[in-house]
Amino acid sequence: SYAFGEPVKDWDSKRREWLKLHPSFAAGAAVDNRVLLVTGSQPTVCKNPVGDHLQLRLFKNKVDYCRIHGLDIFYNNVLLDPKGTGFWAKYPLLRAAMLAHPESEWIWWVDSDAVLTDMEFKLPLEKYKDHNLVVHGWWNMLYEQKSWTSLNAGVLLIRNCQWSLNLLDKWASMGPQGPDPKNWGKIQKSLIKDKAYPGSDDQSALIYLLIKEKSKWADKIYLESEYNLHGYWLGIVDGLDGISKGYMEIDREVDLLRRRHAEKVSLFYGQMREKYMREKGIWRENKRRPFVTHFTGCEPCSGEHNGMYTWEACWNGMQKALNFADNQVLRRFGFVHPDLLNSSWVSPLPFDFPDA
Ligand code: UDP
Ligand code: MN
Repeated sequence: SYAFGEPVKDWDSKRREWLKLHPSFAAGAAVDNRVLLVTGSQPTVCKNPVGDHLQLRLFKNKVDYCRIHGLDIFYNNVLLDPKGTGFWAKYPLLRAAMLAHPESEWIWWVDSDAVLTDMEFKLPLEKYKDHNLVVHGWWNMLYEQKSWTSLNAGVLLIRNCQWSLNLLDKWASMGPQGPDPKNWGKIQKSLIKDKAYPGSDDQSALIYLLIKEKSKWADKIYLESEYNLHGYWLGIVDGLDGISKGYMEIDREVDLLRRRHAEKVSLFYGQMREKYMREKGIWRENKRRPFVTHFTGCEPCSGEHNGMYTWEACWNGMQKALNFADNQVLRRFGFVHPDLLNSSWVSPLPFDFPDA
């Protein structure tokens, strides 16, 4: 069954069998690297008049990334389980996506409020070959501080396999789909002191499993912190103008080099730029594009921000991140948003501006 309740058994051998019957999908190394990006939003109209416009732009950003990298994408806006609302909506969806897409080795969940802010960055899948779930996080923070922010469940990469289906069953059983979400909320709160949300939440549920059922799950879970698989927006958006300028300067210099040595240059433009940035010693973390900028807590629909920042700060931050990403797309079309805060104004680039 595609819904929770009746566990799927022997998925690994069933999937292997399916791939045998569909040899075009099983060709070469592609099978280990096939990624389906899954995202979505609520089934009904957003209460805030700007919400659905933001959802459209947030979706466009993901579509652009998938188009550039040849990934498949699925957008869902129904509740596959009526009890699984809000952040719990992704669990029945991830399960169904695995069964519906046996050709995909990985399902990549990206919250709608997460912006892909490096359109060139590729997921380093080779690094994850011995793991089944990848989320952004830090092991020491998880085990020493048991903090709610020691990992983030809003962006996750999960392997299409039986282990993952078992994890999803367990994970969702702690939420509103399960028998006792109220009690799970209490258990999570007693374990995770800085948990703010009173009910059971999925991020706390994963932290709970990593602490209380460590031997069962931890060795197949990869906590990523070498790049921003998830990056918290508040620490990012103010730096985007500077990062944008830095890349533009490098682009200009690389372009000059490329013109001067046109025949000799065999490297791709992007690789050249990376090499050049390394040589110049400006490959520092705060100058690099963050891969993902996640607007957790912004809630453009409800407008609740726990009093930590204003609605305008969220709105401006989102415009910046979306235009920052869109500039990397528009560049090939010969246009740029000169002002990251002004979404509707673009200006043409010089005609012979290099394509990325
Ligand atoms: N979501 C969904 N369907 C819904 C509600 C939410 O698919 O009905 C997704 C949406 O992509 C959203 C994510 O679940 O970004 C997380 O939900 P929420 O925004 O409530 O949590 P936050 O990211 O703010 O922690
Ligand atoms: Mn989110």
